[in-house]
Order: sequence, then C-alpha cells, then structure tokens
Amino acid sequence: LPAAELVEQYIKQNKIVVFSKSTCPFCHKVKGLFKELNIAFTVLELDQISNGAAVQEALQAKTGQTTVPNTWINGTHVGGATDTLELHSKGELMKLLRTRTHSYEYDMVIIGGGSGGLAASKEAAKLGAKVAVVDFVKPTPSGTTWGLGGTCVNVGCIPKKLMHQAAVLSHCLEDSVAFGWKTPEKISHDWAALVEGVQSHIGSLNWGYRVQLRDKKVDYINAYAKFTDPHTLQTVDRRGKERTITADQIVLAAGGRPRYPDIPGAKEYCITSDDIFSLPHAPGKTLLVGASYIALECAGFLANLGYDVTVMVRSIFLRGFDQQMANKIAEYMEKQGVKFIRGAVPTKVEQIEAGSPGTLRVTAAPTDGGEAITGEYNTVVVAIGRDPCTSDIGIENTGAELAKNGKLIVDDVERSNVPHIYGIGDMIEGGLELTPVAIQAGKLLSKRIFADATKKMDYRNVPTTVFTPLEYGCCGLSEEAAIAKYGEDDLEIYHTNFWPLEFTVAHRPENDCYAKLICVKSQNELVVGFHILGPNAGEITQGYAIALQMKATKENFDDLVGIHPTCAETLTTMNITKKSGADPAASGC
Ligand code: FAD
Ligand code: NDP
Repeated sequence: LPAAELVEQYIKQNKIVVFSKSTCPFCHKVKGLFKELNIAFTVLELDQISNGAAVQEALQAKTGQTTVPNTWINGTHVGGATDTLELHSKGELMKLLRTRTHSYEYDMVIIGGGSGGLAASKEAAKLGAKVAVVDFVKPTPSGTTWGLGGTCVNVGCIPKKLMHQAAVLSHCLEDSVAFGWKTPEKISHDWAALVEGVQSHIGSLNWGYRVQLRDKKVDYINAYAKFTDPHTLQTVDRRGKERTITADQIVLAAGGRPRYPDIPGAKEYCITSDDIFSLPHAPGKTLLVGASYIALECAGFLANLGYDVTVMVRSIFLRGFDQQMANKIAEYMEKQGVKFIRGAVPTKVEQIEAGSPGTLRVTAAPTDGGEAITGEYNTVVVAIGRDPCTSDIGIENTGAELAKNGKLIVDDVERSNVPHIYGIGDMIEGGLELTPVAIQAGKLLSKRIFADATKKMDYRNVPTTVFTPLEYGCCGLSEEAAIAKYGEDDLEIYHTNFWPLEFTVAHRPENDCYAKLICVKSQNELVVGFHILGPNAGEITQGYAIALQMKATKENFDDLVGIHPTCAETLTTMNITKKSGADPAASGC
C-alpha cells in the first residue's frame, strides 16, 4: 500500500495504534504504558518495514508531527510520548478509548461495596470511567449492622481470621510452658476485649475504603438499590431519602447473607456469622448448626477460647471438599473438645431464660427418623448456607435471568443475558464464594469493559483454606473428584503424616498433620490435587498453588529443594503412595 493509505488503514482499523521505532526509548515508554494498563494495542515499527521513512513523512503531512511515537486512539491523534503519558495522567486516555457514547449519569454503577464491587469500581475509575458504588447493609434479625467493605471485612474473612488467631494463641500459651515460659497458673480470656480489638480494626478498614473511593473519584452512595428498568436504579438511604440514578453498565456485586432454617424460634433466638464477631457478651455454651466452612471455623475458635461447643451435622463434613481431609479436621476438633451431634437437624428453638446470654432449648430431629433430641445452650449460631441478595433488587424489571437458587446466571465474561448487566462474587451461579475470586473477577471485568482487555477470570485451581484450629489448605481436585475425572487406576496418590518441629517439645501428637498429592499417572504424574492439614496451611497452600497453576508434576515437587525445618518441605519429600499400603505415619526429622 502507498504510505498515506497505509497510515489511514492502520488508524481506521485499530482502536489504538502506535507508529513507533523499535529502538526509540520514547516509543518504549508509550508501549510500556499500554502494556501496564493491559490494553490491546497495535504497533507499526517504522524501522522494520521497507517504506518506514515514507510512512513517517505521511504522518508528518497528516499531523505536523515529525517524531515517533505517533499515537492514535479511536481515530484521534494523541501525539508523541509526552502527550500520551500526560493524557493518561489526566485520566483522559481511557475516556478517549471508550467509543460507547451514552446519556446516562454514570458509565458504570455497581450494586454492592464488598470485595468484588470495590475492586471493580476502583479499576473502572482508574481507567477513566465515571463510576458509583451503591452499598447498604440491611440489619440482621438481631439488629447487627456494619460499614463499607462487605462480608469479608465486616462479618467474614477478617474477623474470622482474627478470632482464629486468638484461638491459635491459646495453643501457643499452652505450649509455651514446655518452651520454658513461666505463665500464671490460670490464664483467662476476655471475649469483650477480643471483640473490641477486632471491631476497632474493622472500623479502620471501613474508613480506609471510604477514603480510597474518594481518592479514586468513585461516588459512594450509602443506600439500598433496586432496578426500576434495565438502566435505572432507585436508591433509598437510611433516612428514607430516594434518588434515581442511571448507568450505561451495571454490575451486580451484592453478595449473599446467611440463611435461617424455616423452624420456630430461628430468627427470634439464633444468630449467624453476621452477629458472632460483634457479639457484645461472651457466647457461653454454644451450638453451631451446619458442617461447612463457617460452622467448623466458628466452632474451632470458640472451643479454643474455652467455650463449651457442639456442632450439629446434618450429613457430612465440608460437602464438596476432600472427605478424607474433612474427616481428619473433625477428628482433630473432637480431640480438642468440640462435640458433634451427627445426623440431626434442628426443628425448634425456644427461649427458656432471657439474658446476655440467656438460655435456649434446641429440639432436633435425627435424619434417620429416630426420637427427637433436645439440648440447652446459651448461644445458637446457624451456618447452613448463604442466599444471594437478589430477591429484593427489582431484578424482574431488567429481564436478567436467575438460577433456581437465586444466583445470577452469567457467561464466561460475567455477563448476564442482558448485555450491559454483569455479576461478580458470591452472587453468581457457578462461581466460588471467596474474596480473592470476587476481587480478581471485578478487576478483570472493568478492564474488559473499559480497556478492551480480553483476559477472563479463571475459576480453576483456586486455592482455599479452612481456618479450623489445624488449618486445611487445598488446591485443585479432591480425591473423590479426581477419581470421577480420571478413574482410580490412573491416579497415584502420595501421602504422609508429619510432625511439625514446634509440636515436638510441646509433646503435641505426632500424626495429626497430614499432606496428600493427587497425581495423574498417564500425564507424567501431573499434580491435580494438593491437600495439607497443619499449622499455617493457608500460607503453604498459597505458595504451592502457583505450581498447580503452572501444571507441575510430581517430579517438579521432588526436584524442589525444601526449606528446613518447615512443614512446607513435607511436600518435597513425599514417597509413600496410598496404593502401596505403606504406613504414612510421621517418623521424625
Ligand atoms: P459482599 O462482600 O458480600 O458485598 C456485597 C455488598 O452488597 C454488601 O455490603 C451488601 O450489604 C451490599 N448489598 C446487597 N444488596 C444491596 C443492594 N440492593 N443495594 C445496596 N447494597 C447492597 N472468603 C475467603 O476468601 N477467605 C475466608 O477466610 C473467608 N471467610 C469467610 C468467613 C465467613 C464467616 C463468611 C460469611 C465468608 C467468608 N469468606 C471468605 C467469603 C467472602 O467473605 C466472600 O466470598 C466475599 O466477601 C464476597 O464478596 P462480594 O463482593 O461478592 O460480596
Ligand atoms: P455451605 O453452603 O457451604 O454449607 C452449608 C452447611 O449447612 C452444610 O454442612 C449443610 O449440610 C448444612 N445445612 C444446610 N441446610 C441445613 C439445615 N436445614 N439444617 C441443618 N444443616 C443444614 O455454607 P457455609 O455457610 O458454611 O459457607 C458459605 C460459603 O462461604 C462457603 O461455600 C465458602 O465458599 C464461603 N466461606 C469461605 C471461607 C474460607 O475461605 N475459609 C470461610 C467461610 C465461608 P449438608 O452437607 O447436609 O447439605
């Protein structure tokens, strides 16, 4: 093509084009900027094509600019390196990039200021979009409410991990005597002081999020939002003040809330994870209903803080998780004093004495149809699952489709059947209810909408940890899922118990900790499941997860040199297979 035509074609056919020279440091800066922003762009290196000089002349004739880089966005001439970088620092670059023109008040409104919503809003604003986050917390039946940041910060990961830490410290206090510490005869725990410390940290996080939104120029609307049509939301704040806002793109990041069983007394007398972390009085003798993450984690820290704790289990522990590991967690908790009522569901909760805490009588029905059982507790925490916050957001006014469980149905780019309505985090069907997943999905979504990025959220091989007294970390497939996918014959499972060095002097049991690697024989022993039960399993699993993401084989694990003496090194020296039948019991250093 003649040079002038080539220039026209490049400008017309590409959203971003940089006429560049491969050796020019200013061109590197501009290309680096687009790479950093993760935006697709086209480069024509004039020193690498035969008619480069003619193209440069054509550009000069068109723009008056003699030098490279010569940047164009959406057909508009931006200029050289300084112009391009300046445009970005003024927040104008992304505005120019967005071709969509609309007459709505906002480019994007996000319902929900939790993990996903905050991440998506900040990313979109960074990319030049006009964004608002609408966030509102409906009080729990017992009146608990909280600030900006969503579940994780206020009533989830953060207070849970802090209370887990309080529990871990109780072990350290016990062990410290064996390490020579002279501790007072009777050590006691002050629940109110723990709650105060935890809540004060949460308060600082709430404040931090508000500041971040203000700094990033995201409008924060502290009100409850409902759709009145696909582009319009009616918001109502706590004083009842209404406002109508419109947006070109709307992201649902409304999360979920704990479900209550449909039995007499549940909402009147039981609490949930939404209340426990700010409970003003010590919980006393506690019943936890449910056998998943939340029930087991809360049971774990309450028991280690010294409370009398019972867990009512309907069927199995940790549905969806590796069952060998789940049962090992329960065994350990039982040894720590947690009581389990297996195969039962509550049918009625009555108050027999008011107070803080009072006394509640719980009647339960065994699932095998046996005689009803009753028990008295000071506090009953129900943790039987969470419902997405979609039942009262006017979704029927949008045409967006929900699954039977109320979660928003989205495709692999988190888009609902209504093209400008998206969903991220806990409220999407088929997602994972984990904070980092919501954050990653939110960031990637904003980059795709406002920066033409193409990367999708990868929901596979997401590591997770159950913060029970002995932590359980895993990544990839459970043994059950691996058998279903590859067949038992094609799997080699390496396993071992291990005795953390810090357990030895304190004479803690030798074989409570356990690790397991699930490998596919026909794929060079590709590791498809990673499981570890032991101290700091969360930290260990986070690191090893990248190995699974990069498709590590058992040989890669064997080639890795361990760090001695750690628990994590156990994974580098595993040589007992389950099939061999050999004893995986720990055998010292
Ligand atoms: P959320 O954080 O729930 O935010 C949604 C926000 O939207 C809330 O503030 C809600 O009030 C608001 N909202 C809802 N409807 C409306 C409306 N109509 N108008 C305005 N605002 C609205 N994950 C981990 O990764 N690690 C952990 O250790 C961990 N521990 C947990 C422990 C507990 C006890 C719980 C309950 C959860 C835990 N999770 C953990 C899960 C994690 O908290 C969630 O996956 C994460 O918070 C989901 O983020 P989200 O953005 O989807 O929703
Ligand atoms: P889940 O939905 O995971 O589990 C619900 C539990 O309650 C199951 O044990 C279930 O038993 C039981 N159950 C359900 N209905 C009843 C009933 N009517 N009576 C008695 N028992 C019942 O819920 P969770 O609330 O524990 O967790 C919600 C999500 O939060 C998790 O999926 C997780 O992703 C996230 N989370 C993550 C954490 C982390 O990363 N560490 C920590 C905490 C939560 P059954 O098996 O018989 O159905």
